[in-house]
Amino acid sequence: MTDRVVVVGASLAGLRAAESVRRAGFPGEVVVLGAERHMPYNRPPLSKTLDGADPVEWLKPGRHAAEVEWRLGQAVTGSDLSARTVRLESGDVLSWTGLVVASGLRPRRLDLPEPAAGRYVLRSLEDRDRLLSAFDEVRSLVVIGAGFIGCEVAAAAAARGVKTHVVAPETVPIERPLGPLVGTEIRRRLEALGVLFHLGTVPVEFRGEARVRSVVLADWTEIAADAVLEAVGSRPNVEWLSGNGLDLSDGVRCDEHLRVEHRPDVVACGDVARFPNALFDEVPRRVEHWVTAVDTAKRAGQVLAAHLRGAGCGDAFAPVPSFWSHQASIRLQAFGAPGLGGDDVRVLEGELGGEAAVGYHREGRLVGVVLLGLTARYGYYRKEIERSSGGRPAGR
Ligand SMILES: Cc1cc2nc3c(=O)[nH]c(=O)nc-3n(C[C@H](O)[C@H](O)[C@H](O)COP(=O)(O)OP(=O)(O)OC[C@H]3O[C@@H](n4cnc5c(N)ncnc54)[C@H](O)[C@@H]3O)c2cc1C
Repeated sequence: MTDRVVVVGASLAGLRAAESVRRAGFPGEVVVLGAERHMPYNRPPLSKTLDGADPVEWLKPGRHAAEVEWRLGQAVTGSDLSARTVRLESGDVLSWTGLVVASGLRPRRLDLPEPAAGRYVLRSLEDRDRLLSAFDEVRSLVVIGAGFIGCEVAAAAAARGVKTHVVAPETVPIERPLGPLVGTEIRRRLEALGVLFHLGTVPVEFRGEARVRSVVLADWTEIAADAVLEAVGSRPNVEWLSGNGLDLSDGVRCDEHLRVEHRPDVVACGDVARFPNALFDEVPRRVEHWVTAVDTAKRAGQVLAAHLRGAGCGDAFAPVPSFWSHQASIRLQAFGAPGLGGDDVRVLEGELGGEAAVGYHREGRLVGVVLLGLTARYGYYRKEIERSSGGRPAGR
């Protein structure tokens, strides 16, 4: 059989993993299978501008991607890990010697009945095009969900003069990853742009005939809406791996080398991978950030290529996670795991109402930093997190 690495998912992680397998010297075929028809593009800009002026940010394949075969518009519908095959929706079966799982996420939908028209999600270029074309007519937008994507779209819509509401069950926006201190400040800044928050509640009904015209909340408040964005989280694309006895309860569970449990010939990367990070503890978690998608993809490709040539996989993978979010004029950068440091959250530098560095501590140790502005301090605080962890697992 031909030596072949098959990568499922032709986006950021799939591209970087394919390059990494090649860079590590794998001599066989590398085939990337992608459900989308496009070559990989960056998703972060999709939620940050709603004026349609920004060109699509295509991801530039590096020189190692030159010898990679791309099969786009080809969803994988099943797999047999024992036989080392994947099945495509065309019915074709492709065999492999190594498999990379890079199939990412899709938006979760609200379980509320019709009308379907006027309800949007945001993950792909097509989602963004649909939302943008609706925007010419939209006077009132209701965003369901106060996470990063919901808040970014709300900020961009309000900046465009659209009356914008955000509805969510949390008490402050972006509460789970950033905590109440920073969440309250984000709320204050978005309100200054004109965003109206309805927190601690959920939508119970969408009203309208041909399309949504209003959203009814649990307390019977009714908000007029020309469009609704459902930004209520994501579901990992793992169905194609079912039937192989894997733990797919939240993405695909991996070990500290990004190898899918008991399968050294299968690695996972990007948003779909759930792996432990020894910088924090032994709990496997998924991380939905651009930088982590790149880091995991590079490492997963190396680990797989090493296994295929009979070598070991080196040290455990323990990266410092980092991400950014732009909400109109708010420039937020974070590193480490702020979500794990809710015990003790305090301003380390600056002022919350202006530019600030906020530290998140667990058992007395700095585990995360969020910068509001202060972009020049990025390198310093990143090093602080590295120094503070020193590679030691924190208590759990
Ligand atoms: C609107 C938006 C804004 C964001 N902003 C930020 C930000 O500001 N900062 C930040 O750090 N991160 C941000 N992110 C997150 C970042 O974009 C993701 O972490 C990154 O895209 C993950 O890449 P991935 O390749 O793992 O997954 P994805 O980009 O989801 O790619 C997975 C690919 O696999 C394909 N696929 C799925 N199932 C199959 C199948 N069965 N067969 C074949 N192909 C399949 C999908 O079609 C898709 O192309 C944002 C994400 C979104 C959606």
